[in-house]
Amino acid sequence: MELLERRIAEDGEVCPGNILKAGSFLNQQLDIGLLREMGREWKRRFAGTEINKILTIEASGIGIACIAAVEFGCPVVFAKKSGARNVTGDVFSTRVESFTHGTVNEVVVDRRYLGPGDRVLIIDDFLANGKALEGLMDLLEQAGAVLCGVGIAIEKGFQGAGDRLRARGIRLESLAIVDSMDDRTGTITFRKQ
Ligand code: 5GP
Repeated sequence: MELLERRIAEDGEVCPGNILKAGSFLNQQLDIGLLREMGREWKRRFAGTEINKILTIEASGIGIACIAAVEFGCPVVFAKKSGARNVTGDVFSTRVESFTHGTVNEVVVDRRYLGPGDRVLIIDDFLANGKALEGLMDLLEQAGAVLCGVGIAIEKGFQGAGDRLRARGIRLESLAIVDSMDDRTGTITFRKQ
């Protein structure tokens, strides 16, 4: 998606440790016009696929998932980090290693919000090593819900998880795929899609 690639090239910051900061448009300050175009693009790419729920993970997936959900006309469910006092009762639960924090979190979804009747699109901001995605797919499997596809804003292609998931037959639509980035020069190259 050219609009997103241009924005990453202009405003993304390449940091040591294979981190791309997108704080000014995707992660802290949210460019709603851009997010709306991203939602429309996923809707185009998943046209003809029946989807009745979007699943994401707190915190940074929630904003983009909500705006995409306007296009899909469906609710958003987000996996919460457990330990919150307002998470009680019967939950699906899995463990996710955080790429940015290096910690392992238990994340949960209340059993009332996912089930065998659901056809789900997973949305997240970044794909790095695929741990967040694997956790969300585990929750869907526990719920007996159908995974219809995955929409990622920025896939760091050089970390390999995206190609591994595609090879497993998962329908993965990343709006921008970064093939390389250099924190000394700030250079970012994108995969032709
Ligand atoms: P994964 O589980 O695929 O290794 O990492 C994905 C999660 O880590 C995303 O939900 C995202 O929040 C965070 N993440 C991974 N890489 C980056 C990055 O380069 N920049 C930012 N801002 N977040 C990242």
